[in-house]
Amino acid sequence: MKLIHKFKSLNFDKRNNKKISYIILHYTALPSIDESINFLCKAENKVSCHYIISQNGQIYNLVDEKNRAWHAGQSKWFAERDLNSASIGIELDFSPNHNNNNFSKLLINALIVLTRYLKKKYNIDKKNILGHSDIAPYRKIDPGKKFPWHKLNQLNLTYHPKAKNILALNKIRIWFKKNKIYTNEQKILIMLNVIGYDISKAINNKYYYGILLNSYRNHFFQRANLKNSNLKLINFIELHFYNLLLTKV
Ligand SMILES: [Zn+2]
Repeated sequence: MKLIHKFKSLNFDKRNNKKISYIILHYTALPSIDESINFLCKAENKVSCHYIISQNGQIYNLVDEKNRAWHAGQSKWFAERDLNSASIGIELDFSPNHNNNNFSKLLINALIVLTRYLKKKYNIDKKNILGHSDIAPYRKIDPGKKFPWHKLNQLNLTYHPKAKNILALNKIRIWFKKNKIYTNEQKILIMLNVIGYDISKAINNKYYYGILLNSYRNHFFQRANLKNSNLKLINFIELHFYNLLLTKV
């Protein structure tokens, strides 16, 4: 793996003694790699990332891994609220509104190599390789619905629930009934909370609830992830939830 060290960002501080246990994926939403690097390196912008990958698959290191880059912003996953301290941030040269509106093969291949390297180096759980929209669903939509999670799932770099154990659905339903949880909205919020999402804004708020569901859908319920499955969104979340319970107990 070749890393380019030509450009460095001024935007970083110290990790608060936190172990690196997450990788957070972003897209730049800017028209080109040059503009993105420029933006991420300038002190006045107060944003940065550890790595940025160009459409032709070049990997630039902007902030040393040992430092805390500023990419996650206000965010939460389980109880972790300082994702910047606990993660490596990777930006992808992609913008839905410009010419770089596809994730090129070269870009994704480079991301795979980099992710594999970081995951091994820091022993990062595949469940902790997430999108910005997972950890900040009410503010962010990147890496977006076009991001090919299935390619990383196939290589076992990222987590994807197995959509096979249909018997599990019955057990989940009995559990909800026992706990007097009747509406789909209540069920989904509880399950997304157990999966890791910050559900606080979505409780009793249809607008934020919709946004939260969309964040989930764009990561876990993409069509390419669900080949040969006729499951509805709620049934898929039930399976996801059930798979996590099994691995926790
Ligand atoms: Zn982002």
